[in-house]
Amino acid sequence: MEIVPGVYRVEGIAGSNAVLLAGEQMAVVDTGFPGNGEAIVGYIRSIGRSPRDLRWIINTHHHFDHSGSADELHQLTGASIVAHRDEVVPAKDGRKLLRKGVEGEPIPIWYRWLFHGHRPGVPDRPIHDTVVHETVDHGDRLEVLGGLRFLHTPGHTPGSLTLVLEGQQMLFLGDSVINNVNRLSRPLMWDRKKRRQLDASLRSLRELAVDIACFGHGPPLQEAVMERVRSLTDRPYDMPTWQIVLKNWRTLRKFYRTNRQRRGVPEGVGS
Ligand SMILES: [Zn+2]
Ligand SMILES: [Zn+2]
Repeated sequence: MEIVPGVYRVEGIAGSNAVLLAGEQMAVVDTGFPGNGEAIVGYIRSIGRSPRDLRWIINTHHHFDHSGSADELHQLTGASIVAHRDEVVPAKDGRKLLRKGVEGEPIPIWYRWLFHGHRPGVPDRPIHDTVVHETVDHGDRLEVLGGLRFLHTPGHTPGSLTLVLEGQQMLFLGDSVINNVNRLSRPLMWDRKKRRQLDASLRSLRELAVDIACFGHGPPLQEAVMERVRSLTDRPYDMPTWQIVLKNWRTLRKFYRTNRQRRGVPEGVGS
């Protein structure tokens, strides 16, 4: 689906959204679960472009529903894998590896439960290392479609990125905000310190002039974007987890069922 000229939401992807930025040089923002590499390459061909023109594979953050096919896609196209410098860990041989949900950050049971049955064979946690070729920091920019700027918005993960496509007044929020179709929410997070950090990150975006927002989960939003993002941080985000679960149990149930039934993750949960 072409969201605006040159910006495509890749179809047939399992896990998070994958968005293709097809300027003279091309980039993809997130790749979903493992196993999407061929689908993304096929999509690039379907819009009449060569997979060889893909220059960057950008990870909004390390979670494997977003970074799962980064390595596959790198093997297929030669594109560089990009992440924020706080989203990588050094390997003994000097390479930079994308964080994994292994040390200190196991994938929680509730998350596995939500994605259970989403796709048979999806591992509980990332099974292989993803080498990151380029790290970026707050304010860095890539020459894609009139300029893609990186903003460091930690909270959901230490190196979560928000991207601004300057020529299109377009924002990519990763999992910092989830679009539940009828409302926006912040991701479900147990740790209150991380929630405060995420809120500070979202408040830092308040003054941006943006017409369109893309999310890691859910469809793009084209109306009253910043008004709605701003109103999120006006709501309290310090509710105990059990209350969030109670408040959202219908959404959680729907999310679980939808995942069981078909590919794609149309909805998220949070507060
Ligand atoms: Zn995430
Ligand atoms: Zn996600």
